Amino acid sequence: MTAKLILGKDVSEEIYAELRQRIEALKAAGTLPGLAVVLVGDDPASHVYVRKKGEMCEALGMRSKTIIMPEATTQDELLAVIADLNADPEIHGFLVQLPLPHHIDADAVINAVAPEKDVDCFHPYNVGRMLAGIPDFMPATPAGVQQMLIRSGVETVGKHVVVVGRSNIVGKPMAAIMMQRGAGADATVTVVHSKTEDLAAYTRQADILVVAIGRPRFVTADMVKDGAVVIDVGTNRIEDPTHPKGSRLVGDVDFDAVKEKASMITPVPGGVGPMTICMLMANTVHAAEKAAGVSQ
Ligand code: NDP
Repeated sequence: MTAKLILGKDVSEEIYAELRQRIEALKAAGTLPGLAVVLVGDDPASHVYVRKKGEMCEALGMRSKTIIMPEATTQDELLAVIADLNADPEIHGFLVQLPLPHHIDADAVINAVAPEKDVDCFHPYNVGRMLAGIPDFMPATPAGVQQMLIRSGVETVGKHVVVVGRSNIVGKPMAAIMMQRGAGADATVTVVHSKTEDLAAYTRQADILVVAIGRPRFVTADMVKDGAVVIDVGTNRIEDPTHPKGSRLVGDVDFDAVKEKASMITPVPGGVGPMTICMLMANTVHAAEKAAGVSQ
């Protein structure tokens, strides 16, 4: 069997078409949705992500604000910028790009973002709402994975979802989302991580396997059940002298071998990647709708 590909570009285009309509409705009612992104320091990957977020805002006709601060920025200076954004009526959502320089306490920064503008869904208030099944915002990457499953017609109700990785950004919220009541969830969820004994014994039971660990091609074909749906969140740059750049991106799954066993699979790049920004935009539109008194 060769697996059907689930492509983030296709799924995100579908969602962007819906968002464009909501943005037009907001504009007609006098609200231009606005997203701000704050970047501290020189991390090259972060600069790329921040640029892409700004470009997507513009492509959707939303207001975009990028604040770039030097590596030496103090925590108090950053908190002052956050306070300004919390109070800015033209900005409906904003985020501070992680990772932050070591001298800044990321938790203090996350806690300073007004929950109603927390479009990354990192604030404990929003994490708690999501866990309780009454989400306001959804965490972007796991929500993007859920949309990929729903919009590809993957049945999740009663299925065994195994999540590999337990980070606050991907693994934990992924598990929380899939165990909620309702369509596109209602799964039986197992979470495995670096301390799990005999990890493959769990992954082999997965109807839906979501892998987010940051280890190139860690999941091999013998770790996957025949016909499983495999979602590879991992993004790892590996050296490849045959590639013009000398390196290329691979996922956490051994794609070439696993695609012969799975029924559906996401490639890297081109799989989950585009979904994160897409769900960030969805959260921003949602925040603008709430600010404008239009409920969605
Ligand atoms: P973290 O480093 O925060 O967490 C990694 C998790 O994987 C931890 O829970 C860790 O376990 C677990 N882990 C690490 N090694 C192993 C192992 N050998 N066996 C089992 N579990 C292991 O990473 P993130 O969750 O932030 O990201 C994971 C991957 O997803 C990365 O490649 C990242 O680049 C990618 N990513 C992609 C996104 C996108 O495409 N849009 C968005 C976000 C992330 P433990 O807790 O025990 O240490």
